[in-house]
Amino acid sequence: MKVLVPVKRVIDYNVKPRVKPDQTGVDLANVKMSMNPFCEIAVEEAVRLKEKGVATEIVVVSIGVQQAQETLRTALAMGADRGILVKTEGDVEPLAVAKILKGVVEAESPELVILGKQAIDDDSNQTGQMLAALLDWPQGTFASEVTVDGGKVSVTREVDGGLQTVALDGPAVVTTDLRLNEPRYASLPNIMKAKKKPIDEKSPDDFGVDVSPRLAVVKVSEPPARQAGEKVEDVAALVAKLKSAGAI
Ligand code: AMP
Repeated sequence: MKVLVPVKRVIDYNVKPRVKPDQTGVDLANVKMSMNPFCEIAVEEAVRLKEKGVATEIVVVSIGVQQAQETLRTALAMGADRGILVKTEGDVEPLAVAKILKGVVEAESPELVILGKQAIDDDSNQTGQMLAALLDWPQGTFASEVTVDGGKVSVTREVDGGLQTVALDGPAVVTTDLRLNEPRYASLPNIMKAKKKPIDEKSPDDFGVDVSPRLAVVKVSEPPARQAGEKVEDVAALVAKLKSAGAI
C-alpha cells in the first residue's frame, strides 16, 4: 500500500507568536519553524504501517516556500521514502492545498492519505475533509487508532462522550488526532540518510491550480492580557465579591 502524507511547515509550537505591529498577521521574521505537530503524527503513523509491512512506500508532500524542503527532510529522516515540494510564493489556503493534493493523488495513486487534523498556524481543520470531498473518497477524521486490513481501513475517532469506530473502503483519507501515537525523533544516521532521499519539485501550475487567496484577513490581534488575581480574607468575602461581580 502506497501512503501519501502531506506535511506543513508552521511556526514552532514552542514559540509564542507575536502579532505584526500593523495587525496584518503573525510576525514570522527570524522565528523558528517546524513540522506541524499533527503532521508529525501522520508521518509516524505511516512509518509504523511500513514497519508492520502494510505500507510499501511513503511519499511526503509539502506545499509552500522553498524552506518547506526542510520539513520534507525531517519527514524523510523519520522514515518516509521520498518527497514532493510544490513550491509557492507564500501561504496557500486549505481549498487550494486540497486541490493541489488531489492532483498529487492522481499522479501518485496512493491507497491512503494521512493528514494532520489541523495546522497549528491557521487552525483551519479543513484540508483533509476538502480533499476527501474532491476525490469522492471516504474519510476518517480525528483518528486515535488506525488499522489497515487488506483494502479496509478502520479508524477509531474521539467524539464527544466516547469513541466511534468507522470502517472505510480504501482508498481513503485519514486525519490524525493527538493521541494516535507519539512521533519518534529522527536519529543522526537517519538524518544523514535522508539527505540522499529524492525530493521532486513541482508548482501549482503543474496541477492546474490557482492559488490566489479567496479570503482577506481583516485584522489579527493579540489575545487580551490576563488580569491579575486578587486575594480575599475568607469565604464570606469571596462570596460577596462574586455576587458584586454578578458571577453568582
Ligand atoms: P488545515 O486544514 O490547514 O488545518 O491543515 C490540516 C492538514 O492538512 C495539515 O496537518 C497537513 O497535513 C495538511 N496541509 C495543510 N496545509 C498544507 C500545506 N501547505 N502543505 C502540505 N500539507 C498541508
